[in-house]
Amino acid sequence: MRPVATVAPEKYRNYINGQWVDARSGETMPSINPATGEVLGLVPKAGPEDVTAAVAAAAAAYKTWRKVPAPRRAEILYRAAEALVRQKEDLAQLMTRELGKVLPEARGDVQEAIDMTYFIAGEGRRLHGYTTPSEMPNKAAYCVRAPLGVAGVITPWNFPMAIPSWKIIPALLCGNTVVFKPATYTPLVGIRFAEILNEAGLPPGVLNIVTGSGAVVGDVLVEHPDVAVISFTGSTSTGLAIAEKCARLGKRVSLEMGGKNAAIVMPDADLDLATDALIWSAFGTTGQRCTACSRIIVHTAVRRELTDRLVARAKALRLGDGLLPSTDVGPVVSEAQLESIHEYVEIGRREGARVLTGGGRARDGDLARGSFYAPTIFDNVIPGMRVEQEEIFGPVVDLIEARDLDEAVRILNGVQYGLSASIFTRDVNTALRAIDDIATGIVYVNHGTIGAEVHLPFGGTKQTGNGHREGGIQALDVFSEWKAVYIDYSGRLQRAQIDKD
Ligand code: NAD
Repeated sequence: MRPVATVAPEKYRNYINGQWVDARSGETMPSINPATGEVLGLVPKAGPEDVTAAVAAAAAAYKTWRKVPAPRRAEILYRAAEALVRQKEDLAQLMTRELGKVLPEARGDVQEAIDMTYFIAGEGRRLHGYTTPSEMPNKAAYCVRAPLGVAGVITPWNFPMAIPSWKIIPALLCGNTVVFKPATYTPLVGIRFAEILNEAGLPPGVLNIVTGSGAVVGDVLVEHPDVAVISFTGSTSTGLAIAEKCARLGKRVSLEMGGKNAAIVMPDADLDLATDALIWSAFGTTGQRCTACSRIIVHTAVRRELTDRLVARAKALRLGDGLLPSTDVGPVVSEAQLESIHEYVEIGRREGARVLTGGGRARDGDLARGSFYAPTIFDNVIPGMRVEQEEIFGPVVDLIEARDLDEAVRILNGVQYGLSASIFTRDVNTALRAIDDIATGIVYVNHGTIGAEVHLPFGGTKQTGNGHREGGIQALDVFSEWKAVYIDYSGRLQRAQIDKD
């Protein structure tokens, strides 16, 4: 696929200190529609000096933003949520063009940002601390959440509005200011999101956006001494490298990284339901969800039947431009991503897994213009194979046989990741045992591995995360720290204060 410029592409800018500005170098980079190769726009290819300017603006704005009462900060966020509702369709169409996901899923991505913004704005009047009795007479004791300062937000391309909202909205509500670096494949959606938030009334410098490469913009943000916290979602390799730097700098970092999610199908499962859910989980968003199901662990007793159903359904999926209502599966985000997916499929073949359907690029008709990959199902996958262990991040799913629940859970847990998992069974004892034993941050019963809701904590165990959660009120913990306050109104020195810490 070669980029195609139809008309002169629109130029976009960074937003720093309340102004739309070019990169100081004047350099730009394109945003490309992966379904057609069309150049959608040019965005600044920022350098270190642009990041430094954005951090300086955010640090200056922090001095006053932290003093704005949380319910007032929330009012701005409510207005932003309302603007997102009004612009949902436009935003979804832009997202489909920039990233390729089918329009209903793009609408879902925008809706997630709307839900998150309303939910967290509600916390503006509930940013609770607590009071507690002191050990001493005539002494009050309470604790409050305090903001951290400038938050650096670094996001991936697969949920270009939902994921930034999970970070930016709680960061702002808690009283931090933000420098946002969107993914290089989806800068336009990021810019529109920042624009809507700013138009809702954020003071200059409170939310800044800087587009450019991870190696430059992301890295300068991570290393900058005036950035107090980094919130990152992306691959495990990038996340761990960022964590190392943050550890050296003593900087707080929240990481959401790769996954290798699995679903278990037991003999008593409703196979119609399981088939529907697994096709959606494996091939929705072209398999490029962090929660996508990439391993189906099926009990021997239903292996044949489930396999036949899944293969028939995968073969019937219609690939195409995500804007067309007839499309089930859009393109993968880029040529580089497509090549990496195909490399894994070749690795799987060499390892002895059998491709039941798919296994190659799709080029029929208009598909030749974009980066399309046929939905792929691997059979005969053995635990320990690379295609069973490593994240492929595309429309590829493994079938793995297990003889009982214990073996299935062992296989499910036998990877370095731990984001999402599911089990299909009609037996309550089986379901509850699985919930207990599955070592992931999210578990579904009789549902695919996707479909999280914003008011519950979202995140993964092991090499998927570092213990923080996005979503839920837990999101506030990333962007605030506790301050304990003691007020002595006895009028004299009470000794316990100096005898203890
Ligand atoms: P990526 O790691 O390549 O990039 C993520 C972000 O980091 C981008 O904005 C990128 O520009 C930036 N970046 C790259 N190098 C950097 C550096 N040296 N310093 C600072 N920033 C840098 O990931 P991606 O390809 O954009 O996204 C796909 C990955 O994201 C998959 O592994 C997927 O599982 C993961 N993901 C995880 C979750 C989750 O919640 N666990 C959600 C969505 C995506």
